[in-house]
Amino acid sequence: MKSKLRFKLIFLIGALLCCNMSYCQDNTSTLLPIRGFCIGAPKPAKLDPFIAFINDELAPRHVNTLILRVDYNYQYQSHPELSDTLSLSKDDVKKIVDVCRKNGIKIIPQINLLGHQSWAGKVGKLLKVYPQFDETPWIEVPQNYTWPNSDSLYCKSYCPLHPGVHKVVFELVDELCDAFETDAFHAGMDEVFYIGSDKCTRCHGKDKAELYAGEVTTIRNHLAALNRTLWIWGDRLIDGKTTSMGIWEASGNGTSRAVDLIPKDVMICDWHYDRAEQSPVYFAMKGLKVVTCAWKKPEVAKAQFEDMLKFKQRSSWDMGQRFQGMMQTVWTDAATFIDGFNSKSADENGGGNTPWNCFTVLFDQMNGQSSTKP
Ligand SMILES: [Zn+2]
Repeated sequence: MKSKLRFKLIFLIGALLCCNMSYCQDNTSTLLPIRGFCIGAPKPAKLDPFIAFINDELAPRHVNTLILRVDYNYQYQSHPELSDTLSLSKDDVKKIVDVCRKNGIKIIPQINLLGHQSWAGKVGKLLKVYPQFDETPWIEVPQNYTWPNSDSLYCKSYCPLHPGVHKVVFELVDELCDAFETDAFHAGMDEVFYIGSDKCTRCHGKDKAELYAGEVTTIRNHLAALNRTLWIWGDRLIDGKTTSMGIWEASGNGTSRAVDLIPKDVMICDWHYDRAEQSPVYFAMKGLKVVTCAWKKPEVAKAQFEDMLKFKQRSSWDMGQRFQGMMQTVWTDAATFIDGFNSKSADENGGGNTPWNCFTVLFDQMNGQSSTKP
């Protein structure tokens, strides 16, 4: 009896050690399904270096998810009036699709919906062509934009209750998903400052969390009908005041209760660039899947990655399934990033807090290699 017990004990320890070893050797590919990279799509003239970058840099690092911010950088057949003057053709996109497919990378194209309809002193394509969709048409975008300003203008939004807006944007979304041959779409929806304006005849007096959740649900349902999933940034779902995360990486305008109102199959991209905030646990506890996003601070990215593994290890099985992985976010277009990456440029203080260094360090870490800084 005693020896049987001893045998069982040895067997159990052996099994645990094996599990632990295989966990160490193959920790991210099995435990963290998303190994993401997010960047602005290149202009046609810079397409070839981008294709080479996917092949030569993303693929060897086992990046498996590419969020490509396209917006109006595509020659839409459904709405040619919304395409940028210089924009990717269907054949250009096919080249990106082919190189990603060859390397097992899933592409998730992005068009900013709801918010981010202007940037600094420039109104975006949608509101320029369809000004009737503007949530705050009386607010002019100034030539010399500064923050803060008397209108609290960060970016313009479209009115989610305008009866014509979804027909237009969904035609773009569908066409883009078809072109990229994908079953997922990223709608942005971050940093929405203008929502439920008192002066909007449709939104006046409505609950901002319900307005935000309503728009997420409308987009999600449209995609789901075509067996596609919705990805969004997570900031509007976090209460910026309680968490002291502020009004950008969290919400200061009453939208955060939407976290309890949106469908549970929406993927949350939770971005925090200065600290490894613990918010992935919050999303997971709300029943939402979450990807942590880093930008240009390698030490933060490393801590976020370690947290992701820790959250997964210490959670119940159901909770653990919701910690989906990591994503490097790049807030320039592809060409600017590739230049920095190739030249290993330092940051403004001569250090390594750059998106390209963060990318290298994060993926070295995920691939179990030591990393070097420029
Ligand atoms: Zn409105």
